[in-house]
Amino acid sequence: MPETQAQEAFVLTPENYYSEKANVLYLSNSLFKSVYGMPAAPYPCEAAALLGEKERTEALLIGGYVDAAFESDDAFKKFVEENESDLKLKSGKGFYQFVKDADKAIARAKRDPVFMSYLSGQHQAVMTGEIAGHPFKIKMDDYQPGVQITDLKYVKSAQEEFNEFLKRRVTFVENYGYDIQGAIYREIVRQNTGLVLPFNIAYITKEDPVDFGVVTIPDEMLNEALEFVELSLTARPMAQVRQAPHRCGRRSCKFCRDQQVLKGPYTYEEFEARART
Ligand SMILES: [Zn+2]
Repeated sequence: MPETQAQEAFVLTPENYYSEKANVLYLSNSLFKSVYGMPAAPYPCEAAALLGEKERTEALLIGGYVDAAFESDDAFKKFVEENESDLKLKSGKGFYQFVKDADKAIARAKRDPVFMSYLSGQHQAVMTGEIAGHPFKIKMDDYQPGVQITDLKYVKSAQEEFNEFLKRRVTFVENYGYDIQGAIYREIVRQNTGLVLPFNIAYITKEDPVDFGVVTIPDEMLNEALEFVELSLTARPMAQVRQAPHRCGRRSCKFCRDQQVLKGPYTYEEFEARART
């Protein structure tokens, strides 16, 4: 459905951003990556992305916690209230160690005026647009109209890691496809305002003591990432994916593992091949 038609029936707001309706009408950075993958993780499972259970990992939970801490006092209070049982020890007394670690990291980064200047705009700003005929929604951690877009990341470390698909060491930006996120955000903001803004990642690490910083993703990297998004959507439109999502069939895919039906024994070669997936 073109963006105009999608919009007629539904107005996206920060409140309904994660609703089922919004997720059907609009693609997002995270849904795109889970369906189409990215150069650093190229073989996603369409079926798992659309039909699998949404995993609620500790990393996601604590990422939301850190986002809320930089959004506002009210947002933070609300987040803690809504997620209390996951953040607090089963005894009900006190928070888990990973929450205390996050508190330390948040406090450290908040003491840095440069870091904070990148998070002083509009928080959780929502916009919609269209890429390769697909309606997209974005929610920006920090949007400074006419100036820049910044996304906040709470990452394991800022040390580069070997990526087995790219066969080289890459930073967390490439490893987690934050360049793809930046490309989508920059493009949707451009469609709404006519301005091509810089996209930054403000990161805090889970190391002790914490490392933190702000990095602007180069335009060429974003251009390349946008091209990847456009080519992926053109090659296999989302409507096709929704109609008949492919199962990857890999051993490492929780969804496909759960759904498997044996047709007989594996030959040893098949077993070996499966062991590599
Ligand atoms: Zn799968």
